[in-house]
Amino acid sequence: MGYKCVVLIKQVPDTKRITGEAMNDDGTVRRSALPAIFNPEDLNALELALQIKDKYGGHVTVITMGLPAASAILRESLYRGADEAVLITDSRCAASDTLATSYILSCAVKKIDYDIVLCGRQAIDGDTAQVGPQLAEKLGVTQITYVEELEELNGKSITARRNIGNGRQQVRAKLPVLLTVTGDANEPRVAAARRTMKYKNARTPIEIEQEDRSQKSEVRGQKSEVRKLKEKGLLIKQWDLDELEADLKWCGMRGSPTKVHKIQSVVLSAKESRAVEPSDKGIADMIHELIEEKTIS
Ligand SMILES: Cc1cc2nc3c(=O)[nH]c(=O)nc-3n(C[C@H](O)[C@H](O)[C@H](O)COP(=O)(O)OP(=O)(O)OC[C@H]3O[C@@H](n4cnc5c(N)ncnc54)[C@H](O)[C@@H]3O)c2cc1C
Repeated sequence: MGYKCVVLIKQVPDTKRITGEAMNDDGTVRRSALPAIFNPEDLNALELALQIKDKYGGHVTVITMGLPAASAILRESLYRGADEAVLITDSRCAASDTLATSYILSCAVKKIDYDIVLCGRQAIDGDTAQVGPQLAEKLGVTQITYVEELEELNGKSITARRNIGNGRQQVRAKLPVLLTVTGDANEPRVAAARRTMKYKNARTPIEIEQEDRSQKSEVRGQKSEVRKLKEKGLLIKQWDLDELEADLKWCGMRGSPTKVHKIQSVVLSAKESRAVEPSDKGIADMIHELIEEKTIS
């Protein structure tokens, strides 16, 4: 049998290491001041896909949209067991909000035959947890979010357990399906030594171009390097928006309706908290008050 899994992975700044030096005056994070890492819950999504492949057979493709440097997490996925990796990189993707990001990712996933799409629950930089659900909508497939355990997979349907904060929910869905995976789902495996040796020289075309430029070699050199890596199965796929046949009006700044008006650090002090009577009336009064003072609308 076997299942075709596609895992969406993101390279993120290691936000656990934020210090004053990594903050700009306007409250935004200076990404270059922090090491770039594999988004932690994307490692759980990859591990779940690899466990599916170990148990039932199949194929695991990883995709990331990012700068050329994001090729590093594609290699890391190959070391851990992924069969194929794709980098989406294009300057026209810059300034994409979650709507544009999920649109671009949907164009890529549609080019691949799949049974299960897996995302991390949330990225530790953008922190919205919107990309997985938006991607499912754009692909027109069922989504199961907050997955902490895959209970059954029988060729036609999947049963998974979701963590809904104050309890667990068992959900069954027909394939194809999109899952967002939590950090509690599993313990990601480490990179295999043999695979690391095999894939350590795997490169995306843009990396070869950059390495060549830094060594000031001829363009002919790049072409032969690409051909050599392709022959050895070490050329990582790279797609731009033209190859994805993406409609540019849904990409980058043009496709991003989100506007950041202000960034503020909110510190709550005890005197600002107030007890609300735990009844329908108490809740209704609180919502009424929040609407009145325009905290919510
Ligand atoms: C107005 C605005 C402007 C922005 N401009 C920029 C910018 O110029 N440059 C920039 O880098 N970011 C920019 N961002 C951030 C960017 O929108 C988010 O990083 C991106 O949309 C993903 O959202 P998130 O981090 O909240 O992911 P989440 O929704 O929390 O991620 C959930 C899951 O989706 C998948 N996923 C998310 N992003 C990717 C990806 N890129 N590739 C593959 N899988 C992914 C992963 O599986 C991840 O675990 C901007 C955001 C806003 C609101």
